[in-house]
Amino acid sequence: REQDIKILLLENVNKTGQDVLREQGYQVEALKSSLPEDQLIEKIKDVHVLGIRSKTKLNSRVLAAAKNLIVVGCFCIGTNQVDLKYAADHGICVFNSPFSNSRSVAELIIAEIICLARQLGDRSNEMHQGIWNKVSAKCWEVRGKTLGIVGYGHIGSQLSVLTESMGMRVIYYDVVNLMSMGTAHQVSSLDELLKGADFVTCHVPELPETKNMISTKEFEQMKQGSYLINASRGSVVDIPALIEAMKSGKIAGAALDVYPSEPAGNGDYFTNDLNSWAEDLRRLKNIILTPHIGGSTEEAQSAIGVEVAESLVRYVNEGVTIGAVNMPEVTLRSLTMDEPDHARVIFIHQNVPGVLGRVNKVLSDHNVDKQMSDSRGDMAYMMADISNVKQAEIDTLYRDLEGLKERIITRILY
Ligand code: NAD
Repeated sequence: REQDIKILLLENVNKTGQDVLREQGYQVEALKSSLPEDQLIEKIKDVHVLGIRSKTKLNSRVLAAAKNLIVVGCFCIGTNQVDLKYAADHGICVFNSPFSNSRSVAELIIAEIICLARQLGDRSNEMHQGIWNKVSAKCWEVRGKTLGIVGYGHIGSQLSVLTESMGMRVIYYDVVNLMSMGTAHQVSSLDELLKGADFVTCHVPELPETKNMISTKEFEQMKQGSYLINASRGSVVDIPALIEAMKSGKIAGAALDVYPSEPAGNGDYFTNDLNSWAEDLRRLKNIILTPHIGGSTEEAQSAIGVEVAESLVRYVNEGVTIGAVNMPEVTLRSLTMDEPDHARVIFIHQNVPGVLGRVNKVLSDHNVDKQMSDSRGDMAYMMADISNVKQAEIDTLYRDLEGLKERIITRILY
């Protein structure tokens, strides 16, 4: 029953998300901050649903303490704060919000392109110090310039449309062959992109292949006086190499929103203590440094709240895993689930031969209207809509499924 579902939301999850969950009738407790590990372990013992953002670390020790937990919602983009494999192996589904803030990031990049082309950061800093320094040398319009987008996914492609409307020419490089938006043109190598672009902007995921993807060799290939922007992940750009390229004048400006090490909270942290080159970076001219704010807008936060909360509701009420980051994506379009004598059986189990045969034997007294099963790594997810099942039979069905040795979690929704 909805009112039996206990939800704990940490780290000030947006109100839009809280509202979606409260409207369902669940018991929702929302805390403003994250909790130290031991307090968290105590707090989540009987929770069914946990909502976090990036600061709460859900390692195996914490997850092991959450005996009733079925689903975690990361009200953010990243999920590396959660031990996803442990969660999947224990039947805990994890959701995030992959593109609620793409537009916000794309708009930030637009602002940065113009700011860099016009040296706006430097002029503004000078005025704050009382200095009037009117210059036009090496200040440019962006119209007619070429933007090189590395990674043409949610953000890259959105940016492509926006920058073309400002009169920029767009080229992009991606490991996948993708349909171009507008008149953008996909190039076949990173080299080709670097040689052709006046502005290079990175929108790739954090992967071993993208680590230091832009380093000394890549800066050498870039045009004299070109610009670099990185609002993807801190590992993508080799910052000491950027510092050298800017000191030599090869790179005329840069904007960084992400760094290899980022502090956990706000404060006086952008020093050499955290990143050995921080003070050198701060001394450079025409460089915009922002504290990972690409997706930090009211709109993005509110969209994340709704998107993740809706995924949680679908999972709790219907067992649907579409959008899950650690489980196979399984859904059934069924009109009968809520009818009398109907039930939805969800059996999360180890991915070993013969399980489905044993499950279907348990289900064989009933009519299986629809069934779907998929696996991911060591675990698998089976969903079946059955009819001809009396309320009194549900307990037996549940016990029989729980008795199968490959079982991770059984849920019966009726
Ligand atoms: P996405 O997954 O939609 O797109 C990434 C694209 O990069 C894909 O098209 C993929 O094929 C491509 N790609 C992967 N490896 C590549 C490689 N080696 N070379 C070239 N292309 C490669 O991701 P997205 O939602 O557009 O996000 C892009 C990046 O932005 C991610 O790193 C994300 O974490 C980051 N991000 C940052 C902020 C912020 O606040 N600064 C906010 C949101 C996202």
